[in-house]
Amino acid sequence: MKSYRKELWFQTKSRREYINITSQVQQAVKESGIKEGIVLVSAMHITASVFINDDESGLLYDFEQWLEKLAPEKPHSQYRHNGFEDNADAHLKRQIMGREVTVAITEGKLDFGPWEQIFYGEFDGMRKKRVLIKIIGE
Ligand code: ZN
Repeated sequence: MKSYRKELWFQTKSRREYINITSQVQQAVKESGIKEGIVLVSAMHITASVFINDDESGLLYDFEQWLEKLAPEKPHSQYRHNGFEDNADAHLKRQIMGREVTVAITEGKLDFGPWEQIFYGEFDGMRKKRVLIKIIGE
């Protein structure tokens, strides 16, 4: 069995962003030389997510609206976590959008269903953060 590890780095311009990282994950699969296996794509921070969904601008807007209804950023004082920080909403948003995804690799490609795309969801950005890609297989 072979394994391959890679980190992707992000520094978003705004506090919240949704970035399609599918091509970067496929590139890592190519670099690994693994044709049959599994790729794990995982946010390395507790205020960011990796998730799979449709790359459709209306849907990404809907995620933003929905998450802000569930866990509004402000007022910061509504959260106990915000004693020394102001990112409680980002922890909650990440929890609902998930930490990681796993995708099957078949014949060297991400074995997706229709419209599936991999996203990095940033909820407390404007600083350097990472995503881990770990690939195992042969
Ligand atoms: Zn925090």
